[in-house]
Amino acid sequence: MCYAIPGKVDEINGRVAVIDYFGEKRKAYVDLIDDIKIGDNVFAQGGFVLRKISDEEARETLKIWKEIFFKLDAQDKKLARDPKNLYERANAIRQKHQGNSCCVHAIIEFSNYCRCDCLYCGIRRGNTSLNRYRMEIPEILAAVGDAVKLGFQAFILQSGEDIYYTDDLLVEIVKEIRKKYSVLLFMSVGERSLDAYRRMYDAGARGVLLRFETSNEKLYEKMKPNDGNLLNRRTNLIRCLREMGYLIVTGSLIGLPGQTAADIMKDIKMTADLGAEMFSFGPFISHSDTPLAGAKAPTLKKILDTIAQARIMNPDAKILVTTALETLWGLDGAKEALMAGANSLMINVTPQKYRKLYDIYPKRFGTDLDVQEHINAAIDLLKSLGRAPTDLSVS
Ligand code: SF4
Repeated sequence: MCYAIPGKVDEINGRVAVIDYFGEKRKAYVDLIDDIKIGDNVFAQGGFVLRKISDEEARETLKIWKEIFFKLDAQDKKLARDPKNLYERANAIRQKHQGNSCCVHAIIEFSNYCRCDCLYCGIRRGNTSLNRYRMEIPEILAAVGDAVKLGFQAFILQSGEDIYYTDDLLVEIVKEIRKKYSVLLFMSVGERSLDAYRRMYDAGARGVLLRFETSNEKLYEKMKPNDGNLLNRRTNLIRCLREMGYLIVTGSLIGLPGQTAADIMKDIKMTADLGAEMFSFGPFISHSDTPLAGAKAPTLKKILDTIAQARIMNPDAKILVTTALETLWGLDGAKEALMAGANSLMINVTPQKYRKLYDIYPKRFGTDLDVQEHINAAIDLLKSLGRAPTDLSVS
């Protein structure tokens, strides 16, 4: 959960406000709320002002945050001092450009149906042994509501490419969530028409999670064999979504059979070229009910090297510690990633009865954890590194 720190609106220039946080000025878009004016106290997430808050609420939150924030910041700066190796250099760059804020988004996986047949994925349509599920609007709203109560303000709504959810239905889901909750919504629903994404944007969605998985065209076509799934089509879509105004989360799978070190460097460059707000590089983990059953996962070193290189090449990016990394190497692995340039986490808040069924790879981290337990573990980890589970950074 991103416990957003309240800021004060200092200036408003058209769609963009300047927000003051303890003397530090940041910019954020104001188009998700009405009637904003200079002097208002606001919560912003991912570069969007989400809601105004009263002077009293701001005072109370700041009372708690101010002291903790500066204490954590000092700890983070201390840990990032005197960099000697690749990971320490990447961490120092992260500290200098992004400070100690670490966003913690919630993810809700609302359907495990998929029309695609990606070779590496456990919920591919060819996996007939999987029990499938879909969540209807009331269930999705209840899941968002539960997570909001736990402090989350940014959500990824994820599914396979499931055409049961028509464009109208997806727009309805976004509208209903935004009507009830002032949260930042990222859609992760695969390849949809520009019109569908335009309508979801108009309904209040502001982010898209859509990975290209590999920048190697031949490997892409091999891994995604159905429907002439072309890399160009996907990257063009991501570019258009960025132009539409969406925050982009994208990246690749590291360790796919046949992938080279040069491919990984190209993946990092492609992620940057696509204008990603958040970079996501997850280790490939094989699933026994896929054509890639038994293929080896990459080493932790390979993932940390990728994160560190990505950070050095892109000082201002948010870089995610993926659930796949936590699945293979647990919170110790997450800690190493955070110390090698990463600065974002995700917590799965899908209702427990469905979590295991979103079986993209086996034994996903967090599947058996109570959400509150998972939050506590994440916060403890972040605090031990001087990171604030908050989101101050903006576009
Ligand atoms: S990777 Fe995505 S698009 Fe491919 S089969 Fe899995 S859920 Fe579907």
